[in-house]
Formats: sequence, C-alpha cells, structure tokens
Amino acid sequence: MAQIVFLGTAGSAAVASKNIRSSGGIILKIDDSLQFHLDPGPGALQKARECNINPNHTTAVLVTHNHINHCNDLNLVIEAMTHSGLERRGVILGSKSVLQPVDGGHPFITRYHQNLVERIIPLEKNHKIAIESVEIQTIPVEHADPTAIGFKLICPHFTVGYPGDTIFTPQLAESLKGTDVLILNVPYPGKRGQGLNLDSDAAIKIINHIKPRLVIITHFGLEMLKADPMFEARTIQQATGVQTIAASDGLTISPTGYGNYHSPIKGF
Ligand SMILES: [Zn+2]
Repeated sequence: MAQIVFLGTAGSAAVASKNIRSSGGIILKIDDSLQFHLDPGPGALQKARECNINPNHTTAVLVTHNHINHCNDLNLVIEAMTHSGLERRGVILGSKSVLQPVDGGHPFITRYHQNLVERIIPLEKNHKIAIESVEIQTIPVEHADPTAIGFKLICPHFTVGYPGDTIFTPQLAESLKGTDVLILNVPYPGKRGQGLNLDSDAAIKIINHIKPRLVIITHFGLEMLKADPMFEARTIQQATGVQTIAASDGLTISPTGYGNYHSPIKGF
C-alpha cells in the first residue's frame, strides 16, 4: 500500500543540531516494489528503523540539494540499500551539487558509493525521467545552492509535489500544477521567510495556485516551532480551503485516497 513516512521534520541546522525535531528525510512507498527516499538528512537510518522502513528496500534516493540536513546520510543510505555493495542496485537522483563536482566543490556522494549503485543521475531544473511506473519531473526552485531542484512524482494513482527548499516564484507555483499531495518545506511562520525560504504566506500563494487535495507542511525552523506548526497549518487551511496538516516525526499518511483528481485517465 502506498505510504508517505516523515522520518524527520527539522528544518534548520539549529533545530537539527539541538535534536528538537529529527531529520532523516521522507520515505515514499509507491507499491510493494518501489520505495523512494527523499533528502536523507542526519539520522536517516535510525529513524527508518523506528518507523519500520527497511532501507534495503529503497529503489531510488532523491536529493534536492547539498545542504547537510538534506543529504548528510546519503552515503550511509547507499550502504544500507546495497548491503554495503554486495548487491549493486538502486538509482540516485539529485542536484549536480550532490552528485558532481561543481565550481571546484566536492560532491556529497563519495566515489566509492557511486560504484555501489546501479545508476547516478544528476538532474537540472525542468527535466523529466521515469523510474518504472513513476514519472519524475524536476521543478525550478531558487535556493542558496544554485543547482537545487524540486521533484514532482507522477505515480500511477496520485501525484506528489516536493519542492524542497526554495523561495516562492510564479514558475515554481506553475510547475507544481497537477499535484494531489503537496509536501512543503515551510521553515518560517507568517511572512517571516525573509526571502530565504518558504513561510506560511508563500505556502498559501502556492496552494491557492495549484489547489492540491492535501498539503503537509514540514521542515520547521525555530521560529516556526515557537509559532506552532499546527496553528500555522490551520491558518493555511483557512486561507486556502485545502486540507493542510503539520508533519510530526514518524507521521505516516496514505496518499492513495487523494489521487486521481487531476488525472482521471490514469486511474480507475
Ligand atoms: Zn537548504
């Protein structure tokens, strides 16, 4: 059965380092044979175990950018996925900064771990690729890592949008159209994003533009935690009329019931 599992909801180095919220990324199980791990931050494997996720079943790891709370455990997740290289398997999709040397910088994936997996695919903004039954579109985001990308995952029965870290832009909102389940990193409450990342106000703009069926906000900074993510989720829901929930560590939801709204051709 399809599932989205939030291994962690920390949205800043301060929150992650103080361990106020866990990190570790997001698991998307599409069916029995397809399991994606998005943004494997610190503690990914430990949280996966706590949430009954078997990291050896992961088929693809998707990384939006090279900030440590998004990719710190990428190499470790590859070890778990491949039984330390005993089985050469899995696909790694990510921004160029994670998978290639960019501007003299070091890629986050080690050369050793590149050799453990089946395929490494560095992606730019506005690209399309398929993994089995899932079409993956990269969406244009704007973040401190200029190579950062977001993902739209068009699964057989639902579409998940996950921009990762970004500010609001009209192109971003447009590229997320058709999303059923929208996972938004909202580190800041109200209008306090300061042009650094999304805040609740920017989330409202995106949601009003694309009208998904369900929104989950996550990736909370200190200010957001002080403001209370549940309160912010309620404010967003009232402003948009779209069901909005605040993720908590270990939250598991089933996306299946939210699909097929925009794409009746694909489903039943
Ligand atoms: Zn970042």
